[in-house]
Amino acid sequence: MNSKGRLILFSGPSGVGKDTLLELLYKKRPDLVHSVSATTRNRRENEIHGKDYYFISKEDFELMIQSGNILEYTQYGVNLYGTPKRPIDDWLAEGKTIILKIEVHGAKQIKKLYKNAVSIFILPPSIEVLEQRLRKRGTENEADLKKRMEIALSEIEKSKDYDYVIYNDNLETAVDEIIGILNKN
Ligand code: ADP
Ligand code: 5GP
Repeated sequence: MNSKGRLILFSGPSGVGKDTLLELLYKKRPDLVHSVSATTRNRRENEIHGKDYYFISKEDFELMIQSGNILEYTQYGVNLYGTPKRPIDDWLAEGKTIILKIEVHGAKQIKKLYKNAVSIFILPPSIEVLEQRLRKRGTENEADLKKRMEIALSEIEKSKDYDYVIYNDNLETAVDEIIGILNKN
């Protein structure tokens, strides 16, 4: 891929603290840009369309795929999630460092397309703590929560395929470790 920018793939099981870490990271590193994904899942109360996600219908998601404006996409639970292509192309040409919050299958697809993408997997201190965090967040019903925990276990197995693994125990420590990775790549 002939471009000046670079992609940072940011994965980890649901509830591990990806959004929390990214919020802190962007405060410390305002030069980073965030890829806003499209999804067919329902918006959570605190989420903003166009900032957290583009919340779209399944029909519109399929139109995006057909028009070639999706770089990668996957089904997670019952919903589709995908990365809009155009902003990525533009930012890469501008030399930006782009953060993609992405699950394991999407990360694998992107690694094939962009060999120099750097992948980071966030791990919880334990499975029990992960479930506590997810429950405390209170955004999923019991069935969705169970499904997310099931997916989490298979995702954690894939963490070995990542360039870097970080434990999110203490938030500040984890953010500093992420910044350390960005500085050395
Ligand atoms: P994700 O984006 O990975 O699904 P969130 O960022 O929504 O996860 O975090 C899930 C919950 O865990 C939130 O309630 C958040 O406040 C909490 N949390 C995140 N990181 C930590 C941490 N290091 N210690 C304790 N709680 C945390
Ligand atoms: P959530 O519903 O918790 O926001 O996200 C569920 C999962 O989808 C998370 O693992 C998140 O990283 C992943 N995800 C979010 N956006 C994308 C995307 O554009 N592509 C892929 N493949 N996964 C995504």
